Amino acid sequence: EKIIVKDLAEKIGKSVSEVMGKLIALGVFATINQEIDFDTAEVICGDLGIFVEKEEVKEEVEFGLEQEEDKPEDLRPRPPVITVMGHVDHGKTSLLDAIRKTNVTAKEAGGITQHIGASEVEVHGNKIVFLDTPGHEAFTSMRARGAKVTDIAVLVVAADDGVMPQTKEAINHAKAANVPIIVAMNKIDKPNINPDRVKQELAENGVLIEEWGGDTICVPVSAKSGEGIENLLEMILLAAEMLELKANPKRLASGTVIEAKLDKGRGPVATVLVQNGTLKIGDSIVAGSSYGRVRAMMNDKGKAIKKAGPSTPVEILGLSDVPEAGDLFHAVREDKIARQIVEKRKLKVREENLNATARVTLEDLFKHIQEGNVKELNIIVKADVQGSVEAVKQSLMKLSNDEVKVKVIHGGVGTITESDIMLASASNAIIIGFNVRPSSTVESLAERENVDLRTYRIIYEAIEDIEAAMKGMLEPEY
Ligand code: GDP
Repeated sequence: EKIIVKDLAEKIGKSVSEVMGKLIALGVFATINQEIDFDTAEVICGDLGIFVEKEEVKEEVEFGLEQEEDKPEDLRPRPPVITVMGHVDHGKTSLLDAIRKTNVTAKEAGGITQHIGASEVEVHGNKIVFLDTPGHEAFTSMRARGAKVTDIAVLVVAADDGVMPQTKEAINHAKAANVPIIVAMNKIDKPNINPDRVKQELAENGVLIEEWGGDTICVPVSAKSGEGIENLLEMILLAAEMLELKANPKRLASGTVIEAKLDKGRGPVATVLVQNGTLKIGDSIVAGSSYGRVRAMMNDKGKAIKKAGPSTPVEILGLSDVPEAGDLFHAVREDKIARQIVEKRKLKVREENLNATARVTLEDLFKHIQEGNVKELNIIVKADVQGSVEAVKQSLMKLSNDEVKVKVIHGGVGTITESDIMLASASNAIIIGFNVRPSSTVESLAERENVDLRTYRIIYEAIEDIEAAMKGMLEPEY
């Protein structure tokens, strides 16, 4: 009986880094795609407060760990889920609006303004689901919580502006998450645009489009005139087809909370994305530390529905509390199970907070390397000038040896932001800043997320620290 680390994290509603942290604490060093045995999984769950007593182990096991793998014959194609990312003012919001507009049928045209956090569009009878919150911040903070909801990232780049700092961030965030990118070259209605220059800049940032021998689709669009939008949607479907996205509509539902709020009249309201199984009215569910029975469901058009299959975003009523965006949810067979799981999760929350998640830090790096368990050291570099970013990147990459590959997953000019912390948290990376200081909000977020964040004034001191850490000779910090 074995389970892949990533799947375990998903099933128990914990982030991969939390699970890996607990594994490391146990002396088990597995990558996220590696299998661990059931006994180990059980211990980890115990550590994470999923089970308290042996007896109850079974119950959570029933809905999670031991649930059988989907049989291939039960799998059906499911629609792709898309996040729109890109630099501010490049047209993310306008593009989402334009996409929704092309898709409004005459009879709906009257009244749909309802946004539930995600919307469905239909192209030649095929559905595509768009998450309504544009930007990579939402994307990465969900990923840091262990949720993976995006199948494809649409990268909006304004043809009159080209690759800008947040474009680069979006590229790095998508790459760190292994999510394929489709470029929407926006604002092509404008005069004086230079698409070739934009393509060149994309190439310089590791996004090589098809026309240039790469494998990234680039679609010219205008969110303003609507030109190219149909084509973009068709390209999304084409790309999705190659991913062969499948799910099993026959099992109990599971997925991710996209948005949640407390509504004065209706109580806790959550938009969830069903990712596997089918969610039905009356189902008992647990989502983070809330539970309840689905009392009513509404689709993105505001229509009441009775069931929702894979890749369907639905607003649900009936939860006991407001869950957090990024929380995973599971339907379970009985109310009782949902309640027990949540009670236990709540009990353990405090303990967990005290028991800070283990992460790769420079201090313990050597130990992990020696034990052969850290193969890649992910680093994020922020500096006051581009020259320093490049210099640090080059020097850091040269530190790679047979045991560890030093990988700069993101580098940029400017202060260290919350988005950097979330990327570090989601990718188990260390952050290095030069002549930039994080704000106190960012510092406390780093602390909460247990991200090792270090600032330097001199480049070689950073290089020295990392080199020393790799050799186990880092001076302790006082
Ligand atoms: P976001 O910050 O990326 O969400 O960008 P917005 O969607 O808010 O767009 C920023 C500005 O660019 C707005 O003034 C839009 O009207 C304008 N804009 C967006 N798309 C286009 C386009 O295709 N053509 C032109 N000419 N302007 C656009």
